[in-house]
Amino acid sequence: MVKYSVVIPVYNEALVIRETYRRLKRVMEQTDGPYELLFVNDGSEDETIDILKELAVKDETVKYVDFSRNFGHQIAITAGMDYAAGKAIVIIDADLQDPPELILEMIEKWKEGYDVVYAKRVKRKGETIFKKVTAYLFYRVLRAATEIDIPVDTGDFRLIDRKVRDQLVFMRERSRFVRGLISWVGFKQTAVEYEREERFAGKTKYPLKKMIRFSLDGITSFSYKPLKLASLLGFFLSASSVLGMIITLYLKLFTHSTVAGWASLLMVMLLCNGVMFIMIGVIGEYIGRIYDEVKQRPLYIVKETWGVGTKYEKVPF
Ligand code: UDP
Ligand code: MG
Repeated sequence: MVKYSVVIPVYNEALVIRETYRRLKRVMEQTDGPYELLFVNDGSEDETIDILKELAVKDETVKYVDFSRNFGHQIAITAGMDYAAGKAIVIIDADLQDPPELILEMIEKWKEGYDVVYAKRVKRKGETIFKKVTAYLFYRVLRAATEIDIPVDTGDFRLIDRKVRDQLVFMRERSRFVRGLISWVGFKQTAVEYEREERFAGKTKYPLKKMIRFSLDGITSFSYKPLKLASLLGFFLSASSVLGMIITLYLKLFTHSTVAGWASLLMVMLLCNGVMFIMIGVIGEYIGRIYDEVKQRPLYIVKETWGVGTKYEKVPF
């Protein structure tokens, strides 16, 4: 029996993984029950998996799920939750930006009866201004766009009760935004605050392209508002064109001046076309995701596991 599962997604983290193991081990030894450190190797191209194997042979609390290729951070977390055996499940980044020591505080809250304890960043260290500004904006836009209450400035670092996990495993949507799904599930949620540390070593596995994709997944998974923008813009443009018509007619009929030709025409045409293409793009974002959904492919392919049960014992389908 396992009481606590710690899920750690790893992608090319050979430089940090030993230190992460050491810090996590030290923290988990202070807890009151048997625990497992469940690494999900998200198709690393470096020695990550060799180090995991070495740790797993030496220490039976170390378990891993090895993907056949890189499926992405959110999918790796999902697999971790699928395989986790604990009554409480902690999700933590491998790079030690999320201090493992906070887990003890989370466990305290869990014992008080909370089902989700998420870690809220009050400060971020060692990240670029660009990352800080885009992250700040992203959480606010997301909050404005969605109906469900996704807490701002919280990442995936959190503890969830097994009953939350048992609901999450039913949600197999492909464009995954796990922290949104957890908010959607509900139950009793609370926060603990922390300062986000610098990455221990290596560099971020979230380049701009992945960040954009991730933000779009977050917004499109939980909101139709971007689609509604089309009707809003349509009304606005129609209203301004009626206004323009009235002004033009007035000038033509009641004064001696007329509105001059092609420059204004071109401007209006470019504007309308621009807006139209943007809206087609927005619709495309949704259609693409619908397409991914209807294909019904599995979320991930597992190459090998160590120490965990088979997926079908854990997931209802
Ligand atoms: N990660 C992953 N698959 C990916 C990208 C990242 O499993 O495709 C893991 C990574 O190893 C780390 C966590 O997700 O444990 C967060 O990634 P990172 O620290 O690079 O993101 P950042 O903190 O810069 O947003
Ligand atoms: Mg990080």
